[in-house]
Amino acid sequence: MSRLPALFLSHGSPMHALQPGAVRAVWQGLARELPRPKAILIASAHWETDLPAVTAAARPETIHDFYGFPQPLYEIQYPAAGDPALAEEVLRLLRKNDFNAAADPARGLDHGAWSPLLHMYPEADVPVVQLAVQTHLGPAHHLALGRALAPLAAEGVLAIGSGHLTHNLRERMREGGAPAGYVVRFQRWVADRIAARDVDALVDYRRLTPDGVRAHPTDEHFLPLFVALGAAGGHYRAERLYDAVEMGALAMDAYRFDAA
Ligand code: ZN
Repeated sequence: MSRLPALFLSHGSPMHALQPGAVRAVWQGLARELPRPKAILIASAHWETDLPAVTAAARPETIHDFYGFPQPLYEIQYPAAGDPALAEEVLRLLRKNDFNAAADPARGLDHGAWSPLLHMYPEADVPVVQLAVQTHLGPAHHLALGRALAPLAAEGVLAIGSGHLTHNLRERMREGGAPAGYVVRFQRWVADRIAARDVDALVDYRRLTPDGVRAHPTDEHFLPLFVALGAAGGHYRAERLYDAVEMGALAMDAYRFDAA
């Protein structure tokens, strides 16, 4: 079986489920190009836990974890099966790497997972296991999590980190507007370090670039990038697939990381 890449996707507002715009072609193109995964392991910024955790439900429910959106958004169901065996395998790999990790038999899929997957795999016919983030533990922890899970790519598991390249919700402009300068600078800073495989600098982004803290007042939406970088293995080849900025402040970058 050919090794699958790891992906980082900026999932956007929940409205992307209904009105995906231009990013849809990127998400659909990925699903078309990639070998069909046996299962998907997706780390979402919208599931924050104290300890590493995976969903273990055989039939994970669709969670509508947002408020004040149009009713049709609350009617969306993404009925992909879970994969309890994969959840077990994830726990085994994490524990082997000294993580204290747990399975959650009740947790479903949040919009960080199903909003992009709805467009990538609209038939919901690939099983999905979700991975939580531990915001208080920062980038290095998530890089290590991803590295522990890197062997899964050779077994047909598609690892996805679902977050946002920039995520300052207070600075977004409802009516759109030109991308803020710090957003574009941060996109470029990240792109350059990814291209140079300077993962150490990325891990230290809050200190190394003044734009980092402004781009991520809290870094839960950036942490899935580190899961993807780790899952890709140490010597990846990166491709930036998308770089639009929405509402002036929300960079929608998508990256594909192939093991080189
Ligand atoms: Zn989000």
